Amino acid sequence: MQRNDHSPDFHHLLSFDFDGTLHYPGDDPAVSRAFFSQLIRIRRDYRAAWGINTGRSLEHLLEGMEENRFPVDPDFIVAREREIYFAQPDGSWSQDAEWNARCEREISTLFQKCAPFLAEIRALIEERTGAQWIEMPGEPAGLIARTDEEMDWIVSEILPRVPQGSSLGWQRSTIYLRFGDRDFQKGSALAHIARAWQIPRSHVFAIGDSHNDMEMLTLDVAAMIASPRNAVRDIHEHVRQQGGFACTQAHSHGVAEALAHFFPETPSR
Ligand SMILES: [Mg+2]
Repeated sequence: MQRNDHSPDFHHLLSFDFDGTLHYPGDDPAVSRAFFSQLIRIRRDYRAAWGINTGRSLEHLLEGMEENRFPVDPDFIVAREREIYFAQPDGSWSQDAEWNARCEREISTLFQKCAPFLAEIRALIEERTGAQWIEMPGEPAGLIARTDEEMDWIVSEILPRVPQGSSLGWQRSTIYLRFGDRDFQKGSALAHIARAWQIPRSHVFAIGDSHNDMEMLTLDVAAMIASPRNAVRDIHEHVRQQGGFACTQAHSHGVAEALAHFFPETPSR
């Protein structure tokens, strides 16, 4: 596997959601080779750094990349929609210690303050739905619903109950929901990486298919935004309203299409 040298001399930044965007198990292969061809070209011709911005934990994402034999490693990973990791020359991953520690500290304080709210939501979903409450190290409060419709109902019940003035938020991807701090999500993590590498918003690309991609698919974070054809309606509308690119193809075929749209082949090469 080719390793990146983590050079700070990047001119562009590419951020991809994983499940349902880059990766779809119903496709064969689950990540299209057309995507990798575009990626390799753009990394070379546009000096682009690339990363996966996902709800998965780091371990779960690395498993997914291994299964799909990625020919080139990402330069960065955002895991659990907020933890930042950078690729090292030896193939290992180092975390952005300052960002990750701040994120964990703020969420822990916030959850202590919001304990009654979280207990109320847990009781509600255990009484009224078949959804499962998740609470474990690294995953302090989350839910898995049985269906999208059940999660729609849960979100409609959570909304009016959020404590006033609180920065408590949540990230939803289909039947999964993770509570957290509104200030730490895919968008703020991506903006943080762009600042660290001094890449302007106009040179940042992001693509995603679900509600938890909303914050990175905004012009404040990335000037080049796209959604694959299979994206949920809210995301498609959000991307369209901002003049982004709505792909005609699904999953990683859509990703390849969006990359070709924003990063044309340079005539000099
Ligand atoms: Mg997704």
